[in-house]
This record gives sequence, C-alpha cells and structure tokens, in this order.
Amino acid sequence: MLTINSSRLLANLEELGQIGAAAAGGVSRPALSQADVAGRDWFKRRVLAAGLQFRADGAGNLSALLPAQHSEAKTVLAGSHLDTVPNGGRFDGALGVLCALEALQTIKEAGVKLPCHLEAISFTDEEGAVVSMLGSRALTGQLTPADLRDVRQPGALDAGLRRLKLTRADVLAAGRNPATLAGFVELHIEQGRRLESQQLDLGVVTAIVGIRSFWLHFTGQAGHAGTTPLAARADALRGAAAFVLAAQQLVQERHSPGVMNCGQIQVEPGSFNIIPARVRLALEFRHGTEAELEAMQADLLALAGTVAGQHGLEFSSEVVDACRAAAMDAALIGLVERTAAELGLTSTRLLSFAGHDSQTMSAITPTALFFVPSVNGISHNPAEFTHPKDVVNGANVLLHTLLQLAGRCSD
Ligand SMILES: [Zn+2]
Repeated sequence: MLTINSSRLLANLEELGQIGAAAAGGVSRPALSQADVAGRDWFKRRVLAAGLQFRADGAGNLSALLPAQHSEAKTVLAGSHLDTVPNGGRFDGALGVLCALEALQTIKEAGVKLPCHLEAISFTDEEGAVVSMLGSRALTGQLTPADLRDVRQPGALDAGLRRLKLTRADVLAAGRNPATLAGFVELHIEQGRRLESQQLDLGVVTAIVGIRSFWLHFTGQAGHAGTTPLAARADALRGAAAFVLAAQQLVQERHSPGVMNCGQIQVEPGSFNIIPARVRLALEFRHGTEAELEAMQADLLALAGTVAGQHGLEFSSEVVDACRAAAMDAALIGLVERTAAELGLTSTRLLSFAGHDSQTMSAITPTALFFVPSVNGISHNPAEFTHPKDVVNGANVLLHTLLQLAGRCSD
C-alpha cells in the first residue's frame, strides 16, 4: 500500500515552523504580513521542487497542482491555511497544507495516473488577521465589496494586498466554477481533547457548528442600595445572574453537545450604592444543525423571559449575528472513515466547534474535514503539538482518501 514519505513531511513541518518563529517557540505568520509572504515563498519553492505545478489566484490562495491527462477533468482539492494567529503554533493550518502537498508528491512519484486533477491549496487569511477566511470566501464567490470594508485595522487590507501584488478587484474576481470541482478534503488538528481523552486516532467532522449571538436586555428599577429591602428589589443584575446559571444547566441537560457563553455584561447605572436598573448581557450559542440552533434559541430566550418575570424584570432580546451550521458531505464522511479503518486506525464522528475553510468550501462542493489529536487540546498557543505518529496517520488517510476520490470523479 502506498504511504507518504514521513521524514520529508516532518522535515517540511519543522522548516515551515521556523518562518515567523519567536525564540520562545511561538509562530507569527498573520495573513498578508512579511512573515506570511516569506511562508508563501517557501511553499512555492517546495511545490516546484516536488515537480508539481504552482498556481496563485486573485485572492492569494496558493496551490500545488498534479494535472490529470485530460485538461477538462474536474479537480479534487485538499488543503488548509499557512497563516497563523499572532504567537500561534506550528500545526494549526500548516498540517493540512503540508499533508496535502505530501500526498500529491507521493502520488506523482508513484506514477499513479488519475482521471481528476489534484490540487493542494493554502487559503488566504483563515485566521482573520484582516478579513476572516478571505481566500476560501473569495474562491467560493461568497465575498462582496462590503466584506472588504477593512474595519479591523483600516488600511491593512490594501497594504497587505500590495505585498502580494494583488488588488481588491483581483480578490473579488477569484471565484471558481463549482462545476469544475469534485470535492474538498481538509486535515486539521483537533484543537480540543476529545480524541486524546478517548485515545482515538482520528475525528471525522459531521458539521462545523453554526453560531448565533444576541444582546439580552433585563430591565428593573434603580433604587437606594441601603434603604430598599432585598425582597422588594427589581434588580436587573440579580435576574441576569440567575439566567446565566440556569442557561448553562439547560444547555447541558437538553442541548448537549451544543455550547453557550455569556461573555460580556454592562450594568446601569453602575454604582456601589444603586440597585442595577438595566443589564445588557451578551449571549452566544453553538450547535451542529440549524434545527438544533433553532431549538436552543427558543429554549434560551424563553428561559430568559421566565427568569426575568421571577425577578420582577422586563426582558427583551436583540439579534447580533448568525453564522449558519455547515454540514460535511455524508458520502465523504463515510469514505474518510473507511479509509481510516483500512489503515488500521480508530475514529469517531464529532462536531467542529471552531471555524475552518471547510465550512466555506462546503457551500459549493462536497467537503470532508477530519482531525488528528492535539496534545492537551492546546491550540492558538506556542505549546500547540501533535505527535509525529498522528501527523503521519493523518497524512496517509488524506493520501488514500484523495486516491479514492480522484480515482472515481471522471463522470
Ligand atoms: Zn486552522
């Protein structure tokens, strides 16, 4: 059975990890920075040294290509991202790109002819240094001029694009025709400890969770914090606090594995000696399907109303944002699982609670995302680590998934 060159793959990971590296061990290659450009140049040299074709699109996505015999063949994509968060780790994103490159190089060296083009891709700015998931959103035609408003750091987008010799018009024209694609597969580190704690080799993602966020408004009555009897108060903060505790319990009991968070609060008037009259509380929750999100939303908002009533408060809510849950392709989930089993590896199905380029790609082509274990679940941190055996396992599953997928995509 064909296997990837593990020493070459591990050496590539090590070498890329030196680009943007700090003495303390962290890696900083935020998208469109000088270090990102250096990482991109390194990747291009690696692609050409592997005897593969190199391509860069208008959104700065970089690809290695292994063409099929017929130029009109469809393309099977695999990859992730080379950018990192500031002071991040060596594996988040880099693993998926370098394993895809290694798989293509292995297939080329073995002389295997496939009826589909294979493409190993690195998407621009997955981590959102400038515009979150810029590359995959541009490729899938989901980016509008309004998305390029550059609100996080005015001027950063244009300055960064100049480093890549690209313009906003190039980015907006980088969309690809879905009819030319035959699927996308992303290998990523888990960034959690579910696989490690169950001692499993692989996690096959069924969906990337959707996220909904709301402002919750609890309104009571301000009053003298000394002279008003405790029982007679309409204390907005007391109601909000009761909601936070009850909501956690509700989600655990009725919506697991969905999760929620109350991450910000404002109290008015905001004084030691005045009973809180108004509270604005940030609520965010995540789950794997729109139906589950809908059910969570109904339960959480109903609970907030009930708790408010028990504390003599008015309650209202305000939608802040919603990001849809993204289902991975059922047939590809099965293919990754069978491939893992054939290689003697254990796997489980799970949700991804973090965002990935796969959620964007799944809108236009059948998509699979699978995880290898992260030691102690640590990620976005210099201590991020995945054992070499897990890196190699993931790469071999990716290799054989791509061989299967590209071997039968001629129709
Ligand atoms: Zn990532």
